[in-house]
Amino acid sequence: MEKIALVTGSSRGIGRAVARELARSGWAVCINYHKQHDCAEALAAELAAQGCRVMVQQADVRRRAQVEAMVAAIRHHFGDVSLLVNNAGISRQGLFQDVSEESWREMFAVNVDGAFHACQAVLPAMLHRHEGSIINISSIWGLRGASCEVPYACTKAAVIGLTRSLAMELAPSGIRVNCVAPGVIQTDMLQEVGEDVIPQLREATPLGRLGTPEDIAHAVAFFADDKSSFVTGQVLTADGGFIL
Ligand code: NAP
Repeated sequence: MEKIALVTGSSRGIGRAVARELARSGWAVCINYHKQHDCAEALAAELAAQGCRVMVQQADVRRRAQVEAMVAAIRHHFGDVSLLVNNAGISRQGLFQDVSEESWREMFAVNVDGAFHACQAVLPAMLHRHEGSIINISSIWGLRGASCEVPYACTKAAVIGLTRSLAMELAPSGIRVNCVAPGVIQTDMLQEVGEDVIPQLREATPLGRLGTPEDIAHAVAFFADDKSSFVTGQVLTADGGFIL
C-alpha cells in the first residue's frame, strides 16, 4: 500500500504531532489547515527539511467542495489517500441553556460534518483499491459526557458512532476504521477551559500529568501501522486513566 496520509487540522496541536509522527514513519503527509497558514507552512518546512514528503492544503472541513478539492490535489501530487485522520475540531464551554442554535450547528459542522465530508471524499479510491484506514479523533467527553460542554460531547459521541458503524460497513472492503479518544491534552484548545481549571484536571488524572499531543500521535500511529491490521472499530482511550 502506498503510504499517503491526510491529517485534517494539522497546523497545530494534536494534528501537528500526528503529522510529524506519520511523516517520520515514512508517510507522505498532507497538512490541512483552516486559518493558520503560517503554522502549516512552518510545519511543512520542518518536515521537508527532514526529507519527508509533505504538502499543505487549506480547506474548511465544513465545506464539502473544499474537502473534495483538497483530496483531488493530494491525488494529483502524491496519489490516492490511504490513511485519513479526522482530527480537525473545535470546542466551546458554556451552560447548555445558553447554547445558541448557531453555536450548536457550528460544532456539528466542524466535528461531525467535517469527518463525513472527508470520509466520503477518500472512500471511492479506498473502495476501488480494497484497502485503507480511517482514524477519527473523538474525546473522553464523547464516552463519558461533559457538563458545560454538551454540544462538544454530543459531537464526539457521534464520532464514536461513525467509527463503529463505518468499521462494520467497510470491513468487507478491507478498510479499517478506528478512533482515539484523548483525555486532557496540552494544546490551544485546553485554554477554552480556563487557567484555574487546568490544575484540577491534572490532579484528576491518575497518571498525574496532562497529556501531550505526542501521546495522542503515538496512539494514532498504532492504528496507522500494519501491526494493527486485525484491529477495526475500536476506541483507544489515551487519558492517563482519567475515566477509569
Ligand atoms: P487545536 O490546538 O485547537 O487545533 C485545532 C486544529 O483544527 C487546527 O489545526 C485548526 O486549524 C483545525 N480546524 C479547526 N476548524 C477547522 C475547519 N473548519 N476546517 C479545517 N481545520 C479546522 O485543537 P487540538 O487540541 O489539537 O484538537 C485536535 C482534535 O483533538 C480535535 O478534534 C479535538 O476535539 C480533539 N481533542 C482534543 C483534546 C484536548 O484536550 N486538547 C481532548 C480530546 C479531544 P487552524 O490552525 O488553521 O485554525
